[in-house]
Amino acid sequence: MPWVKEDLCKGCAICVKACPVEGAIEMKDKKAYIHNEICTRCGKCMEVCPTDAIRSNYENPALRGSRMGGGRGMGRGMGHHRHDPGEW
Ligand code: SF4
Ligand code: SF4
Repeated sequence: MPWVKEDLCKGCAICVKACPVEGAIEMKDKKAYIHNEICTRCGKCMEVCPTDAIRSNYENPALRGSRMGGGRGMGRGMGHHRHDPGEW
């Protein structure tokens, strides 16, 4: 399931425009919000997001290291007050 790391989302809505599924992703309070019940997990939103705010569960940094380069310790928002998403 894709999920939005809200502290990275800057509200540009590029993901909303890129999504091929009407209504699967929308802006809520200036953050992207994914409706997982209709999202097809095509990955388009992840591809276009300039801040890598959209992650899929298999890219969840809580499950394995960030693949976005840099590695552990210097990632944005890694460590510290991360809470486990836990819902998927
Ligand atoms: S493309 Fe990324 S930064 Fe822009 S609104 Fe979507 S999730 Fe947020
Ligand atoms: S994974 Fe695809 S269907 Fe799901 S929100 Fe992103 S762009 Fe839309």
